[in-house]
Amino acid sequence: MRIGIIGAGQLGRMLALAGYPLGSRFHFLDRSAEAPGAQVGEIVLGAFDDPQRLAELAQQVELITFDVENVPADLLNEIAAQRPFLPPVNALATAQDRLAEKQLFDSLGIATPQWHAVDSLAELETGIGAIGLPAVLKTRRLGYDGRGQMVLREPADIQTAWEKLGSWPLILEQFMPFEREVSIIGARSTGGETVYYPLSENTHQDGILHYCTAPYIDQAMQATAESYLAQLFEKFDYAGVLTIEFFVVDGQLVANEIAPRVHNSGHWTIEGARTSQFENHIRAIRGLPLGSTTPIGHSAMVNFIGQLPPLETVLAIRGAKYHDYGKSPRPLRKLGHCTITTSDAGDRDSSLQRLLQLVHAGS
Ligand code: AMP
Repeated sequence: MRIGIIGAGQLGRMLALAGYPLGSRFHFLDRSAEAPGAQVGEIVLGAFDDPQRLAELAQQVELITFDVENVPADLLNEIAAQRPFLPPVNALATAQDRLAEKQLFDSLGIATPQWHAVDSLAELETGIGAIGLPAVLKTRRLGYDGRGQMVLREPADIQTAWEKLGSWPLILEQFMPFEREVSIIGARSTGGETVYYPLSENTHQDGILHYCTAPYIDQAMQATAESYLAQLFEKFDYAGVLTIEFFVVDGQLVANEIAPRVHNSGHWTIEGARTSQFENHIRAIRGLPLGSTTPIGHSAMVNFIGQLPPLETVLAIRGAKYHDYGKSPRPLRKLGHCTITTSDAGDRDSSLQRLLQLVHAGS
């Protein structure tokens, strides 16, 4: 089974590495022959929104998935008419637009921060009148890892935020004074089978995921998060891995966003769960039985951002596994990660502290 992946980033690379033992072979579309996925599969060189290159990829494979989210939906509908394309285009189209995402949460009764669509300075002022300050102004599209957003704390910030972001369609959100951030990852196969991973607790720095620990054990929250994912699976007649990121406020889940793909907060599952999110994504889109999501002990995952810590030093930490994505260093770029898996949560936490010190010492 030859699988095409639009985008050859680290997610595509880890999908391929998980898919080879299942007999899958991988072809990527990416601008760079040096991209992480291109190092482990065939590459069609070109832009994600180049219809010819997308068609070329489709010719080479039997099934298409993606590791980037920002491919125009109308182009993907053309590709989906030629080859099975999973997860479905409508799930991706919704995730591309924060307004559509919020409307979906509201329609399904999934709690989300108060929000207000903003296309003019007057609408921004009305939104702030309704929501109050602090608030977060975000671009509706193309924002990720905290890019394309600004926190407004006082009235003087309104003008600055408008000057910075006002040329795009925007959404204003209530600023959530969260206790923590968590995410749920699940998979649904083409045959309708579903599995759910335990919640992961995620710590961000400057809008980018810094580290996470899993499982985050809270039975009531787990049940609610799974019921939200189940609703989304049904809504989209979904196949593949799907993620919801949440704020926890007063012990309750408040949805931030969805990602219709494998997710950074699930990298721990490679070593820390019986079946990784990457393998389950491949199983799900191929219509194979899904694998157990049971955690193996307690895990932590730390992103390597901007530079890689020395391999020898990291591997000296008990339970540490090193993942180098094969990228050239650049500030704020995710270059790799490390996962620690231990049988005891306390051991996990002390290894995590050592790893964080190491990562901070190098930055
Ligand atoms: P996003 O790109 O929406 O995932 O935002 C990146 C990070 O910014 C989140 O994980 C939060 O840490 C923070 N953030 C985003 N939206 C809000 C909000 N409405 N209230 C508080 N923090 C937020």
